[in-house]
Amino acid sequence: MTKHIFVTGGVVSSLGKGLTSASIGMLLERRGLRVKMQKLDPYINVDPGTMSPYQHGEVYVLDDGSETDLDLGHYERFTHSPLTRDSNYTTGQIYLSVIEKERRGEFLGKTVQVIPHITNEIKSVIQKLADDTTDVVITEIGGTVGDIESQPFLEAIRQFSLDIGKDNCLYIHLTLVPYLKVAGELKTKPTQHSVGQLRQIGIQPDILICRTERSISLDERKKMALFCNVPLEAVIEEKDKDFSIYEVPLSLVEHGLDELIVKKLHLSASTLDLDDWRDLLHQLRNPKHEISIAVVGKYAEHFDAYKSIYESLDHAGIVNAAQVRIGKIRSEEIEREGPERILSGYDGMLVPGGFGERGIEGKIEAIRFARERGIPFFGICLGMQCAVIEFARHVIGLDGAHSTEFDRNTLHPVICLLDEQRNVIEKGGTMRLGAQPTHLAESSRVAACYNVRDIFERHRHRYEFNAAYRQQFADHGMRVAGTSDGGKLVEIVELAEHPWFVAVQFHPEFKSKPTAAHPLFAGFIEAAIQRRASRSERTSEVKA
Ligand code: GLN
Repeated sequence: MTKHIFVTGGVVSSLGKGLTSASIGMLLERRGLRVKMQKLDPYINVDPGTMSPYQHGEVYVLDDGSETDLDLGHYERFTHSPLTRDSNYTTGQIYLSVIEKERRGEFLGKTVQVIPHITNEIKSVIQKLADDTTDVVITEIGGTVGDIESQPFLEAIRQFSLDIGKDNCLYIHLTLVPYLKVAGELKTKPTQHSVGQLRQIGIQPDILICRTERSISLDERKKMALFCNVPLEAVIEEKDKDFSIYEVPLSLVEHGLDELIVKKLHLSASTLDLDDWRDLLHQLRNPKHEISIAVVGKYAEHFDAYKSIYESLDHAGIVNAAQVRIGKIRSEEIEREGPERILSGYDGMLVPGGFGERGIEGKIEAIRFARERGIPFFGICLGMQCAVIEFARHVIGLDGAHSTEFDRNTLHPVICLLDEQRNVIEKGGTMRLGAQPTHLAESSRVAACYNVRDIFERHRHRYEFNAAYRQQFADHGMRVAGTSDGGKLVEIVELAEHPWFVAVQFHPEFKSKPTAAHPLFAGFIEAAIQRRASRSERTSEVKA
């Protein structure tokens, strides 16, 4: 029978519940268990696809094209759990489904209520993941205990243990134990209050995971155990990790979390093997090279908007034994100050995906700088589209070339709306989404990186390279290195006469893992290391 773990959070948001849930999933997998991961988000939007990155951070796209919460990125990077549309539900989706059922008359005239109709719907989406191929389902509840929006979800998971039996469910509560400078001590009261709120709803947590800046003493753990009604061994410390998020699973093991879960859920598990993970941290701590990459985006100051990009750069650093320093640059700064002052000194440049006109000209200027100076360049989605516009304007000489996303009446629409998008009016879930096959051109740089000719990568866009201009681009040196749909859609362009200039219409950052860096990110970082080496050779020659 499938067992269920529920992860809730208390005291404050941004405690790293996603990362902790992913770490738990990873540890259980490494103890030989088959795990599925799921996140339930209490907000009313149907999915995060239509939310601003300022509100929500990155929209994480799955193979099946669902637009999901960025925590699913942690799940995919840490575990092998197959993620699908069923891995992320919001209040909006739950209500939408219940209301549609009501309209179809499925409730036979009954009054439709939060309990039982909404809670039943929530329980059914959790139950969907339980099957013969799954030992444990881990369901993370977004938000913080005490939020009005979270209540139906908490009520549903409370009922869940009644339905399937207490021994088959485990409640893990992640909480904050803040250090109060003036008092010179850690404070356990917020945790007591938060657990108190959970117990009022009828949920007694089995395990407390305590986020803290400082080590928690035995006395403090005893106090929380007593007041929160959990055994002492179930008060687990999770201290802040300054060095890397990849330390989190190791520290949870040190505090006995995996064993505790196995014991409490009566799971038959194998011994833990974390050798490759320890090797990965060793690599990270002992880099042979140090390079810097400029990520030129719209939301550079907003860390979460490019989460998977930053993670993928780190993975590529690990495989290349390089420490990657990331410069987060707002493209509007380049518009104000010019590329030279802001960008010289970097060993590589990446322009990520995005929407909207703000900062576009800065991105185009940045790409021109990378192209002309031979700086390794990696363009992703909007980053590719900007690279195409830049090339059209400054190499082919198509003045005013643009994307019709930003200038409907441009004389040279080198980027234009996908045919399939022409009649699309609704916004949510209507882009070209999810994994699509791409065929790579023979002897292209990308084919060498991937070492295969057919790939599947995830997409999220409405605009494309305008096929009418293909010949002109090829004649001037920008080659099409990957296509889909029988050669119709351009997925990748590269410049042969440049140390490393690759731009892709898809999002490779969604398929990179710490233990398996994405081949394009790996190739990009390798090129940046080479550039750094050749630059330092030049400087030492000058000095000599
Ligand atoms: N705005 C562009 C499009 O819709 C790029 C999208 C993206 O970068 N994800 O095609």
